[in-house]
Amino acid sequence: MILPFISVLLFSLVSCTQPDMTTDATEGWEDMFKPEEPEEPEEPDTPGTPDDPVDDTKDVYADEESFFKMRGLVMGWSDVNDPKVLDYIKIAKENGLNTFSIYGADRSHVVWKAFARDCADAGIFLEYEEHMMSFLLPRALFDTHPEYFRMNQQGVRVKDANGCPSSEGALAEVYKNAIDIGKRYNPTNNRYYFWLDDGGDVCYCDKCKELNDADQALIFENEVIKALKTINPDAMLAHLCYANTTDPPKKVKPHEDIFLEFAPFYRSWDYPLADTWVTGNQGMTHGKYLRSLEDHLKVFPAETAQVLEYWMDDSLFSGWNPNKLKPVPWKYESVFLKDLDTYAKYGIRHITCYCAYVGPSYVNLFGFPDFLVEYAQALRDYEKK
Ligand SMILES: [Zn+2]
Repeated sequence: MILPFISVLLFSLVSCTQPDMTTDATEGWEDMFKPEEPEEPEEPDTPGTPDDPVDDTKDVYADEESFFKMRGLVMGWSDVNDPKVLDYIKIAKENGLNTFSIYGADRSHVVWKAFARDCADAGIFLEYEEHMMSFLLPRALFDTHPEYFRMNQQGVRVKDANGCPSSEGALAEVYKNAIDIGKRYNPTNNRYYFWLDDGGDVCYCDKCKELNDADQALIFENEVIKALKTINPDAMLAHLCYANTTDPPKKVKPHEDIFLEFAPFYRSWDYPLADTWVTGNQGMTHGKYLRSLEDHLKVFPAETAQVLEYWMDDSLFSGWNPNKLKPVPWKYESVFLKDLDTYAKYGIRHITCYCAYVGPSYVNLFGFPDFLVEYAQALRDYEKK
């Protein structure tokens, strides 16, 4: 999720050209895009469509009274492990956050174990959102099994990223390793995140070349969720809509316990998503993102769908340089609250957000991050319009 190769320069490319201002900002944006006729999906491998009722008895968030059931944060262990300077558990407890995803911790360490206990006592679920493909399909296998790995557009098998989802051997390897990794990552909310390689390309072999990036991801994910079910019958797995998987899958149906995770990484945070004419990075407009979200919600249920946002991601705003922290450009009313309305309109009730680099160093430089409290309270107290 963290893309250091996307330089800060890209952020200077964010532009905003407003079209006809005589109409409401959100009106008629769909006309800006001529949607393709959706292809007839093939027979599903496994049951589960957005029309099926979602069995929420196994959903740990089922009894949440707030509209936004999951109210989360994603951050590094170094951001949370000095509660004398910044006490994330206290902030969560006092303001209604209920989920932390934390990367970079030694989970065998006594300090982590105490932290995990304190989270449980405070009603905070722990989960782990990470890129996992290089562990699901270890690159060391390339020497003996190049056919497990992706074919590039020049027709050569390469081990730089991801793999070949048409390879039975690769799928067997992913299944086996998913069980092993699943035992070590034990999310208390049953939500697993075994993302594909960050920004990695996909396979162009004869069998894969007609599958788009999201289809290829889903073939691996359908294998991973089956594996996770053997160790946790309530397991759910994220399908990440992000970077090269911004287009929805066209040919592969998700397992019923795969949920959508929508991460609009190339948007602009200077303007709300509802400002459809705004162009972020990589040519992505907010209109394209909303179209993408709508299309995904025809494939994945809204009830379990989740948004992964970056409103408070100081790693992104600091250009992934922890030694040159910049203040989070928090736009509470003009962006954040409007975005909540947008997501609520689509029926999305699970929200989490990066706050990487918002840790002790951040507090020392800029003082207490009030935006964490505003974020938490807004999610807790939200009333759908
Ligand atoms: Zn392939």
